[in-house]
Amino acid sequence: MGFSPKARTKVLLWSDRHCCLCKKPCDTNIEVHHIVPEANGGSNRIENAIPLCFDCHGKVQNYNDYHPLGNKYKPEELKARREQVYEEFTRYLVPPIHYIVTQRIHDRENRQLPDVGFVISNLGNSLPVKATVKVSFVVPNQKIPLGGDYYSGKRLWHLNPSHTTSGHFSLPDSFKNYSEKITLKVNVSIEDQYERVHHNLPVGYTYLPADNDWFLEPSV
Ligand SMILES: [Zn+2]
Repeated sequence: MGFSPKARTKVLLWSDRHCCLCKKPCDTNIEVHHIVPEANGGSNRIENAIPLCFDCHGKVQNYNDYHPLGNKYKPEELKARREQVYEEFTRYLVPPIHYIVTQRIHDRENRQLPDVGFVISNLGNSLPVKATVKVSFVVPNQKIPLGGDYYSGKRLWHLNPSHTTSGHFSLPDSFKNYSEKITLKVNVSIEDQYERVHHNLPVGYTYLPADNDWFLEPSV
């Protein structure tokens, strides 16, 4: 069956038709290789694809486990090298994005729990992108997702250049007048124009009742 035409187009765009091992520009002399071969149960999903030049394709395929010479490319290494190459050729498609969990509203009365504000800006001036936002409660040993499509990573936020979107979501009603520590885990990913997803590191926001606002926890 092989990879779908859509998957092939994406990986050729993401790599800009460069070999993901030797990094040379390949033009039409490029193959979309299965990292785990189909014969060994490898899938036709895009995660299992890697664009390679003819030479590297031969090297990856012809290594003989029974007569080892040098070091074989393992699937994890192939995936990591592929991501490096994709990153190199798609990084420019991601403008600077700023986001914050906040109770502050410009020129208006601040939000009160259980209502929580979220503000996200595309600080670039040329490229639109899409984002997914996932917010969950952090309580010891478990992460509880919050409802709502926009905050569960299900719905894409459209971020046009030089635009800011202010949203808000609700904690359960029991958080009204809550005076204990609350930490939210926030995970924002950006999807570029070639539909490649760029993951940010997750961060935490902890609520300070005295300030009626949130501070950033760099690790969560
Ligand atoms: Zn190559």
